[in-house]
Amino acid sequence: MLSVDEYRDGVLAGIGVLAPLELPLSSAHGCVLARDVASPWPLPSFDNSSMDGYAVISADVASASAADPVSLTVIDDVPAGFRSTETVVSGTAVRIMTGAPIPDGADAVVPVERTDAGTDTVVISEGAEVGAYIRRAAEDVVAGEIVLTDGTLIGARQVAILAAVGSGLVYVHPRPRIAVISTGSELVEPGLPLRHGLISDSNSYLLVAACREAGADAYRVGPIVDDEAQFLEAVEDQLHRCDLILTSGGVSMGAYDTVKTVLSRLGTVDFTKVAMNPGMPQGHGFVGEEEVPIITLPGNPVSSYISFEAFVRPVIRRMRGLTDLLRPELTVVCEESLTSPAGKRQFARARFVSPTAVVPSGQGQGSHVMGGLAGADALIDIPADVTSIAAGDTVTVLDLRHP
Ligand code: AMP
Ligand code: MG
Repeated sequence: MLSVDEYRDGVLAGIGVLAPLELPLSSAHGCVLARDVASPWPLPSFDNSSMDGYAVISADVASASAADPVSLTVIDDVPAGFRSTETVVSGTAVRIMTGAPIPDGADAVVPVERTDAGTDTVVISEGAEVGAYIRRAAEDVVAGEIVLTDGTLIGARQVAILAAVGSGLVYVHPRPRIAVISTGSELVEPGLPLRHGLISDSNSYLLVAACREAGADAYRVGPIVDDEAQFLEAVEDQLHRCDLILTSGGVSMGAYDTVKTVLSRLGTVDFTKVAMNPGMPQGHGFVGEEEVPIITLPGNPVSSYISFEAFVRPVIRRMRGLTDLLRPELTVVCEESLTSPAGKRQFARARFVSPTAVVPSGQGQGSHVMGGLAGADALIDIPADVTSIAAGDTVTVLDLRHP
């Protein structure tokens, strides 16, 4: 049996970063930048006011006080988005709003709070230093400066500067497109009536959601009944549309394990056992002329999710151009005892009860225990040679709290 790390290395060996392309700024959110972005202009692009007030000559108002205010003639009014054609000369002021360009001649802004807010003349009761409340051109970014470098993950704060420097199109590694094919003749679309023996298809929803949380664009196909021809057709249908195919179910030793039967025949997909619990039966490879990567996950929902975490999430992150592929690990205390199978690395579902402590989540660690999965925000990573954990032991957990 392969270890989790050996199997993951094997899966990742065939996976590259997706080729970059230009996407509209709104679609680039969540993608990784594929080249440096330089600003074509300075930021701010022009001297502008940081306050609503009056653009003045500082020397004119130097002596202003509440007891002895200074009166100036208001010669113009500039909202943001306009510029004054007037020049401020001694004895005059231009009423100005935040973001509007500083008119010629002015060297300071007096905030409206220090004035009577007049529109023909303004009475100023406190002066302003040279440069006061002026945001200088290029004080943030100079023209030609690199504002974001190749490899940066574009989050909300990075979207803001891309917009500010006019990047309507952004050269990025796109989100992987993932087809999720669930298989099993027992599966029914959630919401439809269930005959005895049938169950709702959880995994396709689970995996699509997990793919999205990992930064991919995923969509559901199926559920597909355990029929070889129908499964093969479902896979072939997806080859032109996606960067990765995920299947769920049908990879263990059962008589109707269609996924394994059909894909084994192709000779390009390997099935193996990984020394882990849950999630022992695994498969990965490539399908079609396009050599689309495929990862076949086991059907038990908890196994499917743990396998996703262990193998698929790192693949998605690699495709996106990220270099930190694995979940952050924390060392915490496990407040309750737990057993683990010998010879298998276990990923036990757990939940944080404090920033430094977890307890196992749900009714045991069976691979069908979905309540425990739903309540978990951590996975206790129990090495293969450890078979029990006592209450109060220190454990390593994978932190699931941040997608
Ligand atoms: P399999 O890997 O196909 O043998 O399935 C193992 C177990 O997982 C069986 O109990 C299946 O009914 C269950 N299972 C398989 N696929 C799904 C699914 N998409 N949603 C929920 N349970 C599933
Ligand atoms: Mg099945």
